[in-house]
Amino acid sequence: MTSAYKFLLLLLVLSTTAFADTAHHTFIVRFKLTDSLKTFLRANEFDITGVNYRTGEIEALMDEKGLRFLKTQRPDIIYTFPQNLALAPDLEYKNPQEIEEFVKDIHARFPNITKLAVIGKSLEGRNIWAVRITGEDARRAVKPVILVNAMHHAREVMTPEITTDMIGFLTANYGNNPEVTRWVDSTVIWVVPMFNVDGNNRMWNSDPMWRKNTRGGYGVDINRNYPAFWNTCKGSSSWTFGQDYRGPAPASEPETQAMMNLVSQIKPVFNISYHSYSEIVIYPFGCKPNRTPTTEAVETIGREIGQKLNYKPGTAWELLYNVDGGDIDWMYTAHQVIPYVIEVNSTNEGFHPNYRQWRDKTVQRNRAGWMHLLNKLQGPSLQGRVNPRMYSNIKITRAGDKSVVQDYKINPDGSYFIILNPGKYDFVFEGQKNTKFSNQSISSKKLLTL
Ligand SMILES: [Zn+2]
Repeated sequence: MTSAYKFLLLLLVLSTTAFADTAHHTFIVRFKLTDSLKTFLRANEFDITGVNYRTGEIEALMDEKGLRFLKTQRPDIIYTFPQNLALAPDLEYKNPQEIEEFVKDIHARFPNITKLAVIGKSLEGRNIWAVRITGEDARRAVKPVILVNAMHHAREVMTPEITTDMIGFLTANYGNNPEVTRWVDSTVIWVVPMFNVDGNNRMWNSDPMWRKNTRGGYGVDINRNYPAFWNTCKGSSSWTFGQDYRGPAPASEPETQAMMNLVSQIKPVFNISYHSYSEIVIYPFGCKPNRTPTTEAVETIGREIGQKLNYKPGTAWELLYNVDGGDIDWMYTAHQVIPYVIEVNSTNEGFHPNYRQWRDKTVQRNRAGWMHLLNKLQGPSLQGRVNPRMYSNIKITRAGDKSVVQDYKINPDGSYFIILNPGKYDFVFEGQKNTKFSNQSISSKKLLTL
């Protein structure tokens, strides 16, 4: 980007921290979605806020100076200003204090199936809360874990509504609804209802379009700060005031470290990270042209979620742009998690949809996403537990053609949960000795006894 424009942006950041001022001087601008425009906006550090694949449009947040710069650099570009798009949230959306009250209330009402945890402290010392939901089912030797989190980005106020709705739905229906009871008894469900608590606090107090954490006043984009592919494909910014500033080093932020510690400890099979907006489902990887092996279930299930929600599925570089240092790439590469980003709401609603009009509709529509993953844990898979001193690895090949499907690291406690596309496989449990199971048909949950 030109240093002149960078300087103007810097002035904006420094001068418009007052709520009303920001609301008056920034606006969403809507364009026809083309690769050349996307490249231009990215190269000049514009704040791309969302896309709409139904209308073929892309949006960016900017001030008058940004718009003037755009007009002089790209006079060919046609743009509009979307009508009735709120640039500040309704007060009904939750703040960090209300999240804390919510999780404590849930635990007080459902102490038998919930446990509260503080997974870490934010930069400013706030608690980052998590709720663990699971039923008493002592007969089950091992339970698969699923993780759901919201609000890596502070202004995405609908996302904690999705996670708190999920917590409320599962706890209220446990013991009454057989499907919910089965999910809660057979699974360990971890929910981080609001991850970027400092950023959200700043969004409420001074800057309704704040995205990052609050490091140094400029902020680090927590979702560009994870170690996987950090700063490798121009999928983040080195400029501290850039909206996707990656931070000075991988995992430099306490929030990133808190999430990494949690994932390392609980070893989830699935993860959903909720963001807004665009109505898309994103799976790894973030850097073009990388993708997960087609033999694995990652993309298949991502497309299924897309179908359930009527959201468009794909990698970040297919749907938006390159992303490096994102959470889902790290979860997949470091811990074999099958992870998704779901961007809720469309360009018609933006970051701050009218609460009464959109809150219930959005959370109800999105139940089909996390429910699909809870159901998947009952579907085609290999699950069980072995002696971890005997076995460390499971090599999975397709029966017949011998092509490797997955090289799976067994969890430290000996448990393994491998979600598979339906088909016929050979499994070799590797370690002190090798034990082979040939020509195994996988059409539902399979347990192998060693
Ligand atoms: Zn986001």
